Amino acid sequence: MTVVKKKIAVVGSGIAGLSVAWLLGRYHDVTLYERHDYPGMGAFNLTYKEGDLEERIDVPLRAFNTCYYKNLVALYNEMGVEIQRTDHSASYSSNGNKNIYFGYRYIEFGKRAMPMFANLSSVNLKSLTVAKDAARFLLFAKRDRRKGLTEGLTIEHYLRANQYSKAFIEEVIFPSFAAICTCSYVAVKQYPAEIIIDFLASGMLFNGIWRAKRGAEDAIHKMLKNCSTLYCNTEVKSITKQNGRVSVLETNGKEQLFDHVVIAVQANQAVKMIAKDEATANKLLSTIPYERSEVVVHGDVDLIPNAVQDRAPVNFLLDKKQDKPMASIWLNEIYPSLKGRSPLFQTWNPILEPKSETVVGRSHFERPTVNLESLAAIRSLNKLHKEHDRQIWYCGSYAMPGIPLLESAVQSAMSVADSLGADIPWSV
Ligand SMILES: Cc1cc2nc3c(=O)[nH]c(=O)nc-3n(C[C@H](O)[C@H](O)[C@H](O)COP(=O)(O)OP(=O)(O)OC[C@H]3O[C@@H](n4cnc5c(N)ncnc54)[C@H](O)[C@@H]3O)c2cc1C
Repeated sequence: MTVVKKKIAVVGSGIAGLSVAWLLGRYHDVTLYERHDYPGMGAFNLTYKEGDLEERIDVPLRAFNTCYYKNLVALYNEMGVEIQRTDHSASYSSNGNKNIYFGYRYIEFGKRAMPMFANLSSVNLKSLTVAKDAARFLLFAKRDRRKGLTEGLTIEHYLRANQYSKAFIEEVIFPSFAAICTCSYVAVKQYPAEIIIDFLASGMLFNGIWRAKRGAEDAIHKMLKNCSTLYCNTEVKSITKQNGRVSVLETNGKEQLFDHVVIAVQANQAVKMIAKDEATANKLLSTIPYERSEVVVHGDVDLIPNAVQDRAPVNFLLDKKQDKPMASIWLNEIYPSLKGRSPLFQTWNPILEPKSETVVGRSHFERPTVNLESLAAIRSLNKLHKEHDRQIWYCGSYAMPGIPLLESAVQSAMSVADSLGADIPWSV
């Protein structure tokens, strides 16, 4: 294919910005802007040292599977980023970790991985009800979605209308998705049913969980390969159209002109930088809700269940007074280099505070959530991209109709790159 070489700016270097820079950089001259001092996808990673060990830890730790995340896996494969299966078995407890009410372990069978009850001696009526509802959901939700029975429904509405048990809804689905979507129960309940069903019914139950074998930084370095210029520590203030070109103005006053600009920052940051001539986009982007939360890396074992048989690589703690659960990932179970070392955890939403002397790092994140209104806005935003003279593009995990995850970020990058004439080197 012959593509006329253009000068393109990509603002924001999370996975969406990095992916679009990689795809477009094969044809065009790409300049990437990032306000952090390191590409955004790895801006909060930290170096953990213990004796002779030095390990880069991904913060947050981002996992995926190979059935829902088909484009992410294809991109990683294309770039030579190796992936490996990782154990994200989970335990769910309440009452300050004293009451373990549900848990599963993944058992691997060749390419498949199957969840089983974690601890058969603790199987009770509640865990059996949850397992029965999980099976019912997997059997029937996809069919309901196909028949159009889930259209316009929130996940809460769908589950309650179909009389799933309170334990399944409130003690497994809502906390699990609060962690997957990094948001409050209020936000989970408003997720469109179709989005949650597409995720759960993608075959993930028998796929297990995967991660980039050498962490996010391996992917970041490979994604930067086609990028001509990378400006870190560079905050973009505004993006405006000027005589057939697009201006990128930095907060330090420096300005450059481009043929196209891909805005790959969070939607709530994008609205601050676009001008009046992007009024429709501004209105659509403004409907996307965001929630803030905290991730702490620490070594305090008191945040997970006391008994070894109740512990899992991912440990949920629910507290009725809290608007979201706490989830502690036991990093020693994830990083092979940490096996047999001092305990290390990554806790999202620390409703119990880890002992200060064990804290290695603390970061704050803002994440988009999806509701019926924002889902409609995203669909309209994608239609806006079809305008024949479009030069300003919106890209990000929020910009595709799905849970804002690594996969939607890559899909959004593919969609923008395709509109700009770049060939996508895989099809899934
Ligand atoms: C705690 C947590 C756990 C998660 N776990 C998973 C997981 O297991 N699996 C999964 O698939 N997803 C996970 N996610 C979601 C995933 O991390 C995001 O969906 C994805 O990283 C978003 O990528 P993005 O490129 O769209 O946006 P971002 O990563 O937010 O990138 C936007 C970039 O724009 C930069 N920027 C903003 N404003 C400006 C400006 N004015 N000038 C220059 N640069 C600017 C920002 O600094 C940032 O680097 C998790 C998220 C969190 C918070």
